[in-house]
Amino acid sequence: MKIIHGKTLEEWKRDNPNLHTIMETEETFWRNPKYKDFEEAVSKLSITLADVKEAEERLIRFAPYLIKAFPETEEANGVIESRTIRIPKMKKAMENHYKMQVNQEVFLKADNLLPISGSIKARGGIYEVLKYAERIAIDNGMLSYDDDYSILTNKSFGELFSQYSIAVGSTGNLGLSIGIISAKLGFNVFVHMSADAKEWKKDLLKEKGVTVIEYNSDYSKAVTEGRRQAQANENMHFIDDENSKDLFLGYAVAALRLQKQLEELGIVVDEENPLFVYLPCGVGGGPGGVAFGLKLIFKDSVHCFFAEPTHSPAMLLGLLTGLHEKVSVQDFDIDNVTEADGLAVGRPSGFVGKLLEELISGVYTVEDEHLFQLLTMLVDTENINLEPSALAGFPGVIHIINQPDFQYPHATHLVWATGGSMLPEKMKKENYEKGKSYRKNKT
Ligand SMILES: *Cc1c(COP(=O)(O)O)cnc(C)c1O
Repeated sequence: MKIIHGKTLEEWKRDNPNLHTIMETEETFWRNPKYKDFEEAVSKLSITLADVKEAEERLIRFAPYLIKAFPETEEANGVIESRTIRIPKMKKAMENHYKMQVNQEVFLKADNLLPISGSIKARGGIYEVLKYAERIAIDNGMLSYDDDYSILTNKSFGELFSQYSIAVGSTGNLGLSIGIISAKLGFNVFVHMSADAKEWKKDLLKEKGVTVIEYNSDYSKAVTEGRRQAQANENMHFIDDENSKDLFLGYAVAALRLQKQLEELGIVVDEENPLFVYLPCGVGGGPGGVAFGLKLIFKDSVHCFFAEPTHSPAMLLGLLTGLHEKVSVQDFDIDNVTEADGLAVGRPSGFVGKLLEELISGVYTVEDEHLFQLLTMLVDTENINLEPSALAGFPGVIHIINQPDFQYPHATHLVWATGGSMLPEKMKKENYEKGKSYRKNKT
């Protein structure tokens, strides 16, 4: 009999009834039984709001550099941030599609339009590279915190950074984000890409002078190889998507920005008016960082849910079994094959899973076909074209309005749109047509 981490499959299923549908790769909604009140959960954790604010201050120091190096950031004064928008037409289409009434407002966090790399990875990925660059420049006596950081565009800094390298493993978008910012600063960049990575992402990186190393296996392999390469090189920094605190903090800054945006939109978040946030999840760093930041700010008034493909429920298995990075979807005979390339991760981050173990409200899975149907629906209603991964947040709204203990007439739903604007037009069209055919075939 097959033993999975010390238990038979029957024992796992007995202890976790959700495993039946998860292993059948059927859509599953899981409420986290370990969820705790914020004050209780957070007292055990070592990362604080002060850490997130420090990250935000670092990004503010870099704003003059970003304006100069990436003129598209000038409009927002060098702040890499996206808008939070109402999507009433999409809400209506969802009501028709799911045959359900959604009585609260639904907002979209448009990270698909983040400048520089067009996905949520423009938050954490860019932040960690900037922090690394800052440390090198300061250690070499070429920069101090009070300087105008636009001097970093000077040739002398490019020469300095060219003595250092950066490596990262990626399914695509993290590689894009790290590759673009690192190449711009002058670093040598090595992006280790999993088999899921789309060709156009590799091509774009090669164009920017990034060394792309391709693997015929999944994301965990790409990360392992990137880590190995960096260990053998003293002047090489490995961006560790599975364990990096800096990456995580870069993502968490989103919460400070969102708090301001919600105020400007006149949206109150408190006990009577909770905020429900739906975050597409791969290895966990992006959604985990954002969720952690939101919990620090809104505490028990925010409920964060992760969304994963039915074929890559890595974080769900990590949390549900309590095994975190020790478990992979393959351990439970799930293949980690999905069109949602940004979420094609078979083994979750243990760092994120343990940190959020008592703070995340739940996880649900979404079928690929369902992602494409939503993709087409969002284009038809709001004219917003996301990449398939980025649609995974939407079904969360429907799950939550069905939860007896979440019946708040004045709640706010926030769907995190994690990427899509960098897609070539041809791919956008293909995705749209695919979703259209899936919608037709559905009776
Ligand atoms: C990377 C990514 C995510 C998830 O982020 P993780 O840090 O891998 O969990 C979600 N959506 C898109 C489009 C992504 O590229």
